[in-house]
Amino acid sequence: MTRKFTGNFTQQEAIPQVGIDAAVKVMQHGRLHRYNVAQNEVAEAVLLEQEFAAYVGAQYCLSVASGGYALAAALRAVEMGQGDKVLTNAFTLAPVPGAIANAGGVPVFVEVTENLVMDLDDLQAKIASSGARYLMLSHMRGHIVDMDALMAICDAAGVLVIEDCAHTMGAHWNGVPSGRHGIVGCYSTQTFKHINSGEGGLLITNDAQVMARATMLSGSYMLYESHAAGAPSEAFNDIALDTPNCSGRMDNLRAAILRPQLAALDAQGQKWNARYQRVEAGLQNTTGLRIIPRPKEEDYIASSFQFTLPDWQLDKVHTVQKRCAARGVELKWFGADRPVGFTSRHDSWRYVDAQEMPQTDRVLSGLLDMRLPLTFSLEDCDFLADIIREEVSAVYQAEH
Ligand SMILES: *Cc1c(COP(=O)(O)O)cnc(C)c1O
Repeated sequence: MTRKFTGNFTQQEAIPQVGIDAAVKVMQHGRLHRYNVAQNEVAEAVLLEQEFAAYVGAQYCLSVASGGYALAAALRAVEMGQGDKVLTNAFTLAPVPGAIANAGGVPVFVEVTENLVMDLDDLQAKIASSGARYLMLSHMRGHIVDMDALMAICDAAGVLVIEDCAHTMGAHWNGVPSGRHGIVGCYSTQTFKHINSGEGGLLITNDAQVMARATMLSGSYMLYESHAAGAPSEAFNDIALDTPNCSGRMDNLRAAILRPQLAALDAQGQKWNARYQRVEAGLQNTTGLRIIPRPKEEDYIASSFQFTLPDWQLDKVHTVQKRCAARGVELKWFGADRPVGFTSRHDSWRYVDAQEMPQTDRVLSGLLDMRLPLTFSLEDCDFLADIIREEVSAVYQAEH
């Protein structure tokens, strides 16, 4: 009899008790709005910003309503103009092109490699052909491109880089925290990311003017001096009255929940990686299945697992997905012709002009993706790998 996995792929861990206690305190005193503080009180949102800035070694940090909000605010804060072109990954999730559209930009897609990172040759070609001056780089599913090479290309071409670190909070490239290479780094604290406040986002930069604009945009009114991890007052002189208030603040309740999770993030990252490595080990040497190599410079936090079935026929990949689903293993397939659940792709974002992305289409047609919540045990991960290996092998052998 074939065994079935019964775990829940969308069940995250509970909020740590210290976070619950801190949240209850905020609710008891009632000052949930970040600018509603008692005398000498420092708002939880401000403390979170200071702690996150210290964690990534950035000068300034702003907490906001969502990761997507942070991305759009970042584009406006670097003064992207209406109708400007913004390079971005053809393989990413809907909030990324959505943020570009929200800020009034026009997405120009860059191909993905079989290692699931931005293709730097195509980036160079698209910089030249589009004349774009902005890159919104998505570290999709936590795979980090060679950031030294990418920054060399962008710096030489005068392209400003905004990093979408929704999947790389806590990760590094060559010792540098993800989000610290570009002019702005954006993070999400939505439930399925590395720290969980339901919704929420963080934006970091070392540029005082950019931080001042982002702060005004987020809805600081004239209260920006209370941002201990914010830009100095002088940075607001020229821009405070010229920057619209596009409300998108974080509140003290969510900040209170996040602070203890941030303190535990590195330890959580090790737990995620232990799970990832168990799945990876269990899938080694599975004929027809390609494991995504992880470069030694990449210090990742793997909260999900990807593999490809290179050059398989679409219906066979679909069969693997269905057979795994029948055994309780939820794999997302990026090659489906209709977007499903959280999954969509460049050709389903119809508000963007269609762009030919042959290499990305080829990679995505064989790409399967699995969440690894920390509620799964290491033994669960062994079992998941067993099921995937068995089902991939069964479909592969029927064909060969
Ligand atoms: C979740 C996510 C975002 C945006 O985060 P929200 O907080 O949900 O707005 C951006 N990019 C990627 C790749 C994501 O997965």
